Amino acid sequence: MAGEPQADCLFCKIVSGEVPATVVRETDTTVAFRDINPQAPTHVLVIPKAHHPDAASLAAADPQATADVLREAGAVAADEKLDETGYRVVFNTGSGAGQTVFHAHAHVLGGRGLNWPPG
Ligand code: 5GP
Ligand code: ZN
Repeated sequence: MAGEPQADCLFCKIVSGEVPATVVRETDTTVAFRDINPQAPTHVLVIPKAHHPDAASLAAADPQATADVLREAGAVAADEKLDETGYRVVFNTGSGAGQTVFHAHAHVLGGRGLNWPPG
């Protein structure tokens, strides 16, 4: 069923605590934790606690949780003092775009200059 935990999903295991993570924020519906392989001085992932394979699936199934993820991305940026210098929120979608974990997640990246367009 949409949203149910998946036994083989790394981020569901982070939600359950089975896999440890450096959690920086948590709400009833979201978890934000530091990326294990940071691509910028601040690189935090914000995920819905419910399992959805990508951002569009999440938005279709649960608009409120989608809004919660985006609000928390902004809160992470404020916590990390990125909101004045600028930051990027990225949802890689599909393996061709670099998605490797198929549980929706927003990358919050900042703390260095960010080129546009990204690679
Ligand atoms: P994607 O490539 O799917 O857009 O993003 C997945 C992200 O998850 C990558 O940036 C990767 O470094 C991160 N990641 C993969 N495994 C782990 C892990 O076990 N813990 C944490 N904190 N991040 C992970
Ligand atoms: Zn999952």
